[in-house]
Amino acid sequence: MSLAARKIRLIMYLRRSGITDTAVLDAVERIPREAFVPQPFLDQAYEDRTLPIGHGQTLSQPQVVALMTQALRVEKRHKVLEIGTGSGYQTAVLSRLARRVYTIERHRSLLREAEERFAALRLHNTVTKAGDGSRGWKEQAPFDRIIVTAAADDVPQALYEQLANGGLLVLPIGPDRGDQELYRISRTEEGPRREKLGDVRFVPLIAGALPKEEDRSRSTGSAGPRGRNLA
Ligand code: SAH
Repeated sequence: MSLAARKIRLIMYLRRSGITDTAVLDAVERIPREAFVPQPFLDQAYEDRTLPIGHGQTLSQPQVVALMTQALRVEKRHKVLEIGTGSGYQTAVLSRLARRVYTIERHRSLLREAEERFAALRLHNTVTKAGDGSRGWKEQAPFDRIIVTAAADDVPQALYEQLANGGLLVLPIGPDRGDQELYRISRTEEGPRREKLGDVRFVPLIAGALPKEEDRSRSTGSAGPRGRNLA
């Protein structure tokens, strides 16, 4: 089956699984997921699977990307912050929906590869930064929307503070390798309002700077039994 046919099959699957926002489906259709997937996994680019991207990190399955994007309710005028660039696929999908997407990744080499993909695909409304995203991006705050694609123990305070009034934050909360839940947090005059959106499984959000040696290795290991690769 061609990649184009597989992509149509995936879009139909996403519709059936509850992705009803046509702007989100359209963005998924327009971004070539094969450009974000390591070469050995090209034929799986349009399967609903989590794929390894090196450094023990993963590209989330399309259904989770679509679900989180839909939950974020992004509008054309929005300034969005993403924590955990990884392959850059989620960033790319968001870039089709928002005015500008700011994205932070702690692995410099992953970030460099993502930047190359954004340039090749002419996604010029993305702004990248290497560092600890749990502290947010103060200079660029406030953000209309914030998305975290790695699991934290709780809502990082800095991220809530950098949310505009009425803004939304979508993130997985829970222990590494344990039960995690996807939450949508709204910033309101009365304080944070939490909504549970369902069970998920993400790599952990790691606070603090990355030791240089850890970043130098360019491993692209294969996925473990649960589609994760613990380097
Ligand atoms: N959105 C990505 C999925 C990335 S997996 C995609 O579409 O491919 C989660 C990513 O979060 C990993 O790349 C990991 O290195 C990164 N990460 C973990 N903790 C982080 C932190 N504190 N700051 C920034 N990035 C972090």
